[in-house]
Amino acid sequence: MSDYSGLLVYLDGEFVAWNDAKIHVFSPAVKYGAAVFEGIRGYWNAERGTMYLFRLEEHMRRLELSQRIMRFNRIVPAQAMMDATVELMRRNGFRSSVHIRPTAYVAGQGESSAQEPVGSFITAIPRGTPKKVETGCRAQISSWQRIADNVMPTRAKSNANYNNSRYAGIQALKDGYDSAIFLNSRGKLSEGQAMCLFLVRNGVAVTPSITSDILESITRDTVIQLLRAQGVEVQERDVDRSEFHDATEAFFCGTGAEITPIVNVDGDAVGDGSPGPVTRALQTAYFDLAFGRTDPGHKWLTAV
Ligand code: PMP
Repeated sequence: MSDYSGLLVYLDGEFVAWNDAKIHVFSPAVKYGAAVFEGIRGYWNAERGTMYLFRLEEHMRRLELSQRIMRFNRIVPAQAMMDATVELMRRNGFRSSVHIRPTAYVAGQGESSAQEPVGSFITAIPRGTPKKVETGCRAQISSWQRIADNVMPTRAKSNANYNNSRYAGIQALKDGYDSAIFLNSRGKLSEGQAMCLFLVRNGVAVTPSITSDILESITRDTVIQLLRAQGVEVQERDVDRSEFHDATEAFFCGTGAEITPIVNVDGDAVGDGSPGPVTRALQTAYFDLAFGRTDPGHKWLTAV
């Protein structure tokens, strides 16, 4: 187990030691999962001695949206969370890439419909790129269905939603796969476990639309823009599971997953069973951008 005890945590306006960052057992956040969060990466560029936070503002704006969907009575503003994140970076003095997790939660002692008081905290821990980004992963189309917008709004990044991917993820591992892919209530492809997905068919990148019960992923948006800049056509539409059989490439994308090739689905190779050229070119563009190598002044980067 990793030891984070030397790190500081931002908690309700203060910076406290990791082991002192506590909320009450009787809070609606703990009892009912009445909380929303974000996952943000900070990329450490050793040559420049600079940490680049990737699309910080877009993440904190989504945190606001998640709070509105969850009908919090007080919305923790994006700007306050951005400022606190930058300060947390400075105080912890990281010298490697990090994963940042801001949360807004229902504090107090209320029951499941409590809408206040609202608290917030931010953690940040060292985290590099997962091995699967290089090797690719083997995915299972899950027998668990993706939650629907009129069941548990998927557009909100709410903690309680993650029990859905927990079921699917555990099942995929027990069945010998690395990862799960969800179909939605209409039987169309939705997303992976905390990551969106793309297929490449006849040179065209296709991805489930934002009304496919996905989280409106910031990486998905980044990928669409990077692919188009590389001259690759992108379609956002309903996507069928059988399209994997005609795909030459597929990949997951997300803040945590970054760009993870999908090399096999349900035991069948995708394309030739190895990460393809569209995926590899995209990875290069993504990491060059995120580490501040191509354009350190890019509007998506917050330099610390
Ligand atoms: N779907 C879900 C359910 C997620 O939790 C995530 C990770 N935040 C994603 C997709 C990918 O979103 P993003 O690119 O904004 O990290």
